[in-house]
Amino acid sequence: MASNVIDGKALGAELENSLKIRVSNIKKVHRPPHLVVIIVGDDPASKVYVRNKERACKRIGIDSTRVDLPSTCSPEDLENLIGEFNEDPGVDGILVQSPLPTGFDEIGITELIDPRKDVDGFHPINLGRIVTGRLGGLLPCTPSAVMKILESTGVEMKGKRALVVGRSRIVGMPTALLMAQKGIDATVTVCHSKSEDLEGLCKSSDIIVAAAGKAGMIHHQWVPIGSIIIDVGINRVEEDGRSRLVGDVEGAASTRASWITPVPGGVGPMTIAMLMSNTVTAAESIFNRSEDS
Ligand code: NAD
Repeated sequence: MASNVIDGKALGAELENSLKIRVSNIKKVHRPPHLVVIIVGDDPASKVYVRNKERACKRIGIDSTRVDLPSTCSPEDLENLIGEFNEDPGVDGILVQSPLPTGFDEIGITELIDPRKDVDGFHPINLGRIVTGRLGGLLPCTPSAVMKILESTGVEMKGKRALVVGRSRIVGMPTALLMAQKGIDATVTVCHSKSEDLEGLCKSSDIIVAAAGKAGMIHHQWVPIGSIIIDVGINRVEEDGRSRLVGDVEGAASTRASWITPVPGGVGPMTIAMLMSNTVTAAESIFNRSEDS
């Protein structure tokens, strides 16, 4: 069986086109949405991610400001900057690029961002809304990208056995909560580094979302025929003197699954599109609040 490979770039472009219309509507009555991205230190991968986010802003008509802080800056410098952007009515979205250098409390920093400007969707208020089933706000970008991708397959998730490999605060756990929501109705298992029998868990699943960050850890023989595989993992590997990106699922899984996301070109571009969507949503709600007051 050959899989349908899900083109995350095309899906992301589709979403971006709908965002362009919303942005032009905001511009007619207000100003362009404005995203601020703060990057601390010199992590090369972070710089690439931030550049991709800036490019997406440009494509859609969102203003973006990038602030580079040196790795020698103090947590207080970053905290003060976030405070300033929280108060700035000209800023709709604030994103602090992960990872932060050692000595920074990443979760604590997230909690300082005004939840209405938290376009990453990592603030406890935004994460907590998922538990209460209020999904209209700022959802974390990768989990909501996974949901959009699943939706694009047209496959009914109700009653399906879904396995989420990884329980992180920003990917695995919120993805599991979204899939278990009333209305989506998957039966979700979350596994993690202490779980036993990953092979057995995979073999009894209809949907596998792999988000462990371990190259090829899901063997293709573990992938049930006809299953849906969403590969969130991004791992850099060296092969024959060349460096390339691979996911958490072995490439040969595409001979067994009915739908599969490629790495790169699957979840990644859709995640950026969801960030753009959150920024537009934040701008719309800030404008609506200013109109009401
Ligand atoms: P993380 O390191 O915070 O979490 C990894 C999780 O995997 C942990 O919960 C851990 O318990 C679990 N895990 C580790 N080994 C396991 C094993 N053998 N069996 C089962 N579970 C295991 O990572 P993260 O931030 O959640 O990211 C996960 C992966 O997704 C990384 O490769 C990251 O680069 C990628 N990612 C991709 C995107 C995207 O846009 N495509 C976005 C965010 C993260």
